[in-house]
Amino acid sequence: MFNKLTVRDYDLKGQKVLLRVDFNVPMNEEGGISSDKRMVETLPTIRYLMEQGAKIIICSHLGRPEGKPNPQFSLKPIAEHLKTLLKVPVLWTGEITGSATRKIVRNMQNGDILMLENLRFDPGEEENNMEFAKKLASMSDVFCNDAFGTMHRAHASTVGITKLLPSCIGFLVEKELQVFGNLLENPKRPLVVILGGVKIKDKINLISNLINIADTILVGGAMAYTFLEAQGFATGNSTVERDRIPLAKLLLDKAEKEGTKMIFPIDHVVAEEFNFIADSKVIVTGDFHRKDIGMDIGPKTIKLFTAEIMNAKTIFWNGPMGVFEFQKFEKGTKKIAEAIVRSGAVSIVGGGDSVSALQKLGMDKKVTHVSTGGGASLQLIEGDELPGITAIMDKVGA
Ligand code: AMP
Repeated sequence: MFNKLTVRDYDLKGQKVLLRVDFNVPMNEEGGISSDKRMVETLPTIRYLMEQGAKIIICSHLGRPEGKPNPQFSLKPIAEHLKTLLKVPVLWTGEITGSATRKIVRNMQNGDILMLENLRFDPGEEENNMEFAKKLASMSDVFCNDAFGTMHRAHASTVGITKLLPSCIGFLVEKELQVFGNLLENPKRPLVVILGGVKIKDKINLISNLINIADTILVGGAMAYTFLEAQGFATGNSTVERDRIPLAKLLLDKAEKEGTKMIFPIDHVVAEEFNFIADSKVIVTGDFHRKDIGMDIGPKTIKLFTAEIMNAKTIFWNGPMGVFEFQKFEKGTKKIAEAIVRSGAVSIVGGGDSVSALQKLGMDKKVTHVSTGGGASLQLIEGDELPGITAIMDKVGA
C-alpha cells in the first residue's frame, strides 16, 4: 500500500539530515512532560542516524503558539529530556534557522545532534510557506520524516520541504504504515472493530469505511445511544446527537447491505446526574426512564462484547465504552481493554481518548500497537491520503 523510501535507502555518512519528529508531547501544569511515548518511539531512528554518522538536525512543533515565539511552548525542556533518553549531548540554540543555528550546523561532527526551536514560532510553518521551507532546506542534505502524528498536515516541514530535498521516512512512520496498511488491506479475520466515545459527527467517514472492511463492529460509549435511537429505542436523557439520527440509520443500512454485523449494548449503567458520585443502576435496552443517562455499558454487554473479542484475530479500537474519566463508570472500558489483551489478537488502538483510557488503566504496553497519531491514523482508516506521506519520494519501481 505504501512504498516510500526509508532512512535505510540512503548513505547518510556525513550528511546533514533534517529529521522531522512529532515531539508535541502532553505537558503538565508545571511545564514537565506527562508522557514521552512519542519521543521514545522515535529513538530507533535517531540512534540509527547516529550509527550511520549523520549530522542530525531535529525539528518539531509543540502546541499552538500561532506563529510567534512563546516561552510556554519552547522545545528546550524536550531537548533536555532527549539528552537524558539518549545519554548523549543535544545541541540547542533556542532558534529555528537563525545565525547561531547556522554556525552550529557548519561545525557539526558526524553523529552530532542539534534540536531546533519550535517550528510553529514561525508563521511560515503552518502556511506551508516555501521561503521558510527553503531556510530549513539550506541547512540540510536529506529530509527524513518520522512524525506520524503530523502527517495529516500539509506544513512547510512536512510537505514544502520535500520539494527541496531528497526525502524518506523514519522507522516509526514505517511501522505505523505497516500496521495500518495490514489492517486496511490484509487483516487476519475475523476483524472486530470496537467503537465508542461521543461524536458520530466527527467519525462518519471512519465508521463508513470500517463497515467496508470489518466483520463485526461493537458500538459502545455515547455513540451507541444515537444508534439505539435510530433503531427506535428511547434512551432517556443520554447524550444523543439528535441531528445525526438519520445518518446513523444510513450507516445501519449500509452495514446490513455489506453483511457487517453491528452489535449494540443490551444493558447499561445509568445515573440521573452526570457526575462521578451519581447513584447508578443497571437497566436493559428498552427500559430507559426519562431521566436516565447512560454512563457505561452494562455487565451483559461486557459479556456479549467479550465473546466477540475472544473470537477475533484482529482488533481495532477507537473510543471509550463509557465515561471512563469517572472511576465509577470506567468498568466497561476496563473490561473491554482486558478482553482485548487476553484475546491474543493483533490489537491496534488509535485515537486520543482510547489511548488515554489504556494509559489510565496501565494497559497501553499490553496491546500490539498504540498509534502515536490519533488524527493521522483515523484519516488513514477513513481512506484519505496523508499529505505528509504522499509528499515523500517513492521507492524506484513502486
Ligand atoms: P471521543 O472524543 O468522541 O472519542 O469521545 C471520548 C469521550 O467520550 C470521553 O471523554 C468519554 O467520557 C465520553 N463518553 C463515553 N461514553 C459516554 C457516555 N455514555 N456519555 C457521555 N460521554 C461519554
